[in-house]
Amino acid sequence: MERKILLTPGPATTSDSVKNAQVVPDICPREKEFGEIMNSISLDLVKIAGGDDNYTCILLGGSGTAGMDATISSVINGKVLIINNGAYGQRFVNIAKAYSFDFKEIFFNWNEEIDIKKVEAELEKDKDIKYLVVVHHETTTGILNPVKEIGEIAKKHNCTFIVDTISSFAGIPFNIKEWNIDFMISTSNKCIQGMPGVCFVICNKDKLEKIKDNPKKSFYLNLYTSYDSFRKTKQTPFTPPVQTLYALRKAIDEFLQEGAENRYNRYMENNKILIEGMEKLGFKKALKNLKESRLLTTFWEPEDKNYSFEKMHDLLYKKGFTIYPGKIREKTFRVANIGEIYPQDMSIFIQSMKSILEEMNLKMALSK
Ligand SMILES: *Cc1c(COP(=O)(O)O)cnc(C)c1O
Repeated sequence: MERKILLTPGPATTSDSVKNAQVVPDICPREKEFGEIMNSISLDLVKIAGGDDNYTCILLGGSGTAGMDATISSVINGKVLIINNGAYGQRFVNIAKAYSFDFKEIFFNWNEEIDIKKVEAELEKDKDIKYLVVVHHETTTGILNPVKEIGEIAKKHNCTFIVDTISSFAGIPFNIKEWNIDFMISTSNKCIQGMPGVCFVICNKDKLEKIKDNPKKSFYLNLYTSYDSFRKTKQTPFTPPVQTLYALRKAIDEFLQEGAENRYNRYMENNKILIEGMEKLGFKKALKNLKESRLLTTFWEPEDKNYSFEKMHDLLYKKGFTIYPGKIREKTFRVANIGEIYPQDMSIFIQSMKSILEEMNLKMALSK
């Protein structure tokens, strides 16, 4: 198969073996055999998150946002504080609004670190707040938020702690238990390197039991309905994306084979080559002196009349690389280095970028 490299923060590049894992004989997902596959996926995802028997993993059909939607609509039953320093924090706010939940938002600029003292002051001031929500890796920019420290505050103030780890899970090692996370959301098509179509929520079982009698705000995306169905029958209440789950099974096998540390190190090596190469070409990173994921980098767009993102994108696309536009008001673009890609791919990307800059006649880069 032709190899295309996605330098987008999901879907990410997948291995041929993961792609091929989708080609299976037709099977009804109500079969025991399929229930066993889903069960093994759930158990492994809990383990990868650092959870034990006190945690369970709920698989849902849908993209990452379905997991956010399901978690917010199923768990929240009282006042929630949402930390917002990017488009995905904002998405949580939008979901809370859509369900008319009683929420408070604490806002930070895209180029600001979360001020933990401000978060804590909010919880001290307003004792009605029972839930705290944050994004781990804010894929809007690549900033990495201090989830461990926020988790300590959540615990101290008895808040149920909900974290979007959609673009960091399996990319950056962490431990759900040590970080006091009660509900952790992620998806099949980012650092775990599977196909899009499945999201999953890893839940603290005690906290999950407590949502049992919450008013059902969503009929389809309800965590307890899914949990209860699977627990009793090893079946999902609605048709799951069967082939995507086979691919996810394979992607997890490949993750376990590579190992969490090795995957992280590979991504870091990819990032090192990316940053060094891009800076040599004259590009500048948008985030300065902030803690970054190093899974995705935001670059300023060149100030040159010959520059256009579309043109750069299209020329790169012809060479087999896909990049992403920026997600903030300022003029930026983004390059991710997750997925089934290796340092050599990043070197080829830098070479391709260099020749494209020459083709576009961009002086800023050529002078370096
Ligand atoms: C990708 C992503 C999502 C979900 O996006 P979908 O398009 O629904 O898959 C949510 N949060 C973060 C931080 C993400 O990176």
